Order: sequence, then structure tokens, then C-alpha cells
Amino acid sequence: MPDVPPLLSPAPLDGPARSVAELPEPSPGLSCEELLDLDRRHVWHPYGPMPGRSEPLVVSSASGVRLRLARPAWGREELVDGMSSWWSAIHGYRHPVLDDAVRSQVERMSHVMFGGLTHEPAVRLAKRLVDIAPDGLEHVFLADSGSVSVEVAVKMCLQYWRSLGRPDKRRLMTWRGGYHGDTWHPMSVCDPEGGMHHLWSGALPEQVFADAPPDGFDTEPDPAYTAHLRKTIADHADELAAVIVEPVVQGAGGMRFHSPAWLRVLREACDEHDVLLVLDEIATGFGRTGALFASHHAGVAPDVMCVGKALTGGYLTMAATLCTTRVADGISRGEVPVLAHGPTFMGNPLAAAVAGASLDLLLGQDWAGEVGRIETGLRAGLAEAADLPGVRDVRVLGAIGVVQLDHEVDTAAATEAAVRAGVWLRPFRDLVYTMPPYVTGDEDVARIADAVCAAARAG
Ligand SMILES: *Cc1c(COP(=O)(O)O)cnc(C)c1O
Repeated sequence: MPDVPPLLSPAPLDGPARSVAELPEPSPGLSCEELLDLDRRHVWHPYGPMPGRSEPLVVSSASGVRLRLARPAWGREELVDGMSSWWSAIHGYRHPVLDDAVRSQVERMSHVMFGGLTHEPAVRLAKRLVDIAPDGLEHVFLADSGSVSVEVAVKMCLQYWRSLGRPDKRRLMTWRGGYHGDTWHPMSVCDPEGGMHHLWSGALPEQVFADAPPDGFDTEPDPAYTAHLRKTIADHADELAAVIVEPVVQGAGGMRFHSPAWLRVLREACDEHDVLLVLDEIATGFGRTGALFASHHAGVAPDVMCVGKALTGGYLTMAATLCTTRVADGISRGEVPVLAHGPTFMGNPLAAAVAGASLDLLLGQDWAGEVGRIETGLRAGLAEAADLPGVRDVRVLGAIGVVQLDHEVDTAAATEAAVRAGVWLRPFRDLVYTMPPYVTGDEDVARIADAVCAAARAG
């Protein structure tokens, strides 16, 4: 460290100066027991009650595809990560390139406001996103999380129609089985059951729901479902600002895959009826399904696209909403010619720098080959699950492997079985699934698949 004099003198102590010996001991590290007790009493966990009822595992560090536990769980001190930390850590943990990107950005600046100021990490990231995104998406709004990027997408669409003098176009259409985040408008387009709409009836805006798309990436398009989608859009055209869906894979709403053909039907019907198309690629973006963006499977470009999750390689929270020039111009020609949204941490340089480095890392390798290799490993390893009692379906697409049970999974038993097999999984509803980091080696992919089977057997 260079020997630089401090800019500020140390804060003055109240009262007469005390000698070092009189100062309280710096607090020692918490024991696992203390940590878990405080956690249970004070710390809210995702989708959890307060105080917490189930005990989380304490992670002390993570590297490559392994999570290291602060104390062993069911005999395991280290777990192979089958979740990529909710599908974000595509390059694994402590990747030297990503660590360096954060470190060198910290040495310049961690954050500056984005109002009236700009900086290279954000500009470079926006340019990279525009370069790889489906055609026509030219403008980038950097948001702090996936849910916020969906809120921004909704705001863009509603404001677009307001600017064009059509304020009645303010509802959204989606299909059942989706998930778009936990803030207000995203919740309104989540699957009504999974999203607990009954809890929020009268409070959430009521959106238009079509039936869930038929199952199966490879299934032939069903003309009856095509007609259903087209009719739902036509019937509500005057009040619809946009259709919003997850392309090809519905993630947290049920890990279902559908034919890319439906995206083409939506695109055509939206164009025909003056409705915008929003594709939520937060789960599917950056190669997860075997295409860089899932919309590439369909050759469809949306008017607005959301990305998040893997954007920063799982290092920091950042998402983005991209839109076409038509949408941006429409908004900017309105009575209020600005997009009234501006998060405090918008464009955060640390997140933008690591996102840029993560994209370089992804695009600089044969990512499709890696995802294909994992797909092959998951298909081989999960095949045996199809014959297990209680298993309804086994499906694999890209680096996503899913075992669907015919009953609600016993999460505690399934998690324990996976951990005993040396793997971290987080089953939910009737699903035991994995979305491993792209850097997972063949042996670890096989181990993850075995653990999914063990969890399906136990759960
Ligand atoms: C996870 C997810 C979101 C929400 O993102 P957060 O960063 O958790 O707010 C939205 N849409 C999809 C498709 C997602 O998978």
C-alpha cells in the first residue's frame, strides 16, 4: 500500500482519550450456533416466515463450483453447486477474471450517481448488450434487479401508449405458469396460483391470462392453442399495452418448456393488434437454454426485453431493460417526454464492470459447446429418474435439468438427500431441478444428476 496521509483525521473520541487497552475487544467471529440463532430471530430469508422455522446451511466461502460450509451438514463440508445461486453464477465462484474486474473497478470508484454523470463500465456494458441482443433493441435502462427491470418494462409500455394518446391500453396479457418477479406489477403477471393471487385479490392490478402453453420444446404447434392466443389478444386489443412472457422456459413458475413457435404466434398477433411484446429473458438469457437468448430459438425480436440473473455472472445485483427505437421515440415524444425512473444505484460501476467482464468471458469461449456438454451429461444422468416411483416427467433443455414429481416435494428430505450426495439443490413445489454453472466438469455434472435422482427418491 502506498503511504498516503489520511485525508481526514480520525474521528475525535468523546471525553478524555482512552488508552488502547481500555477499548472494547473487537468482536470475535460468531460461532455457527450464535450465527444461526441471530439469523433465526432477526434475518428474513426468501419466501420465509419470521422467525425462521427451517435452519439454513452456513456458507463460509465458495470457489469454482463448490460451496464450503462453515460446519459439516450430513457429513459434507463441501457441496457441488447445482443451482448457480438462483441461476446467476454461470462461471462459478471466485473466477479470477471476474474477481479482477471487481478489484480493479473498486480501485477507481465503486459508485457514482447516474443522473448527470456517466462512466465507461456502464457505457461499455450497454453497447455489448445492444450488440448481442435480438435486432432492434437499441436502448438500455440499467436496473438494480430483475423485478425492477420488469417494472421498468411495464412502465415503458404503458407510457408508450399514453404518449400516443391511447391511455386505455394499460393492461398486460400473459399466459399461465409464468414468473416475472416479486414486486407489484411483476406479481400481477405471475401464475395466479404460484403468485398467490387469491391473497392479493382486489389489490393487484388484474391482468389478462391465456392458458399455459402446451408442454414440450419439440412438440408440434397445436392449432387450437394458436387460435386461443390470437383470440385472447384480439379480444383485449383495445386495453392491452403489452404481452409479457418468458420465452421457451417458464422458470420459477414451474420449470416448463414450450415450443418456440408460440413466440412467433405472439409476435404476429401483437403486430396485428397494436400490442407491444415484452420478453422476460431474466432466467433464459446468456446461453442457459442452448441459445444466447431463448428468443433466438424462435427468430423473434421483442419490443422490450429484460435481462438479469446471469448478467453479472452472479457477482452483484444488476438487470437491464432493453427497448427498440420505436418505443423510446414514442415515450420521448409524449406530453411527459422522459422515462420517470431512476434508481439510486442505477448503472453501478462495480456491477457494470463485472457484467462486462462476464459477457466477455462467456462470448470469448465456446459457451454453446459447454452448455451442450452439460445438456448431454444431464440427459444421461437423469434418464434413470424417469422410472422412479412418484416421478411424472423428466426434461432437459440446455443446462437445465428437471425432475417433476406427481406430488409436492418434501423439501427437507429432498435437500438432505442431495447434501448427502454432496450437492446443493433447492427443490420447490413438485420439482427437483438443477441449473449448474457452465464451468461444471463432467464428473460434477454426473454427481449433480445423481443427487437430483436421490432427492427425487427421497422427496
Ligand atoms: C428471477 C426472475 C425475475 C426476478 O428477478 P429478481 O432479480 O429476483 O428480482 C423475473 N423474471 C424471471 C423470468 C426470473 O426468473
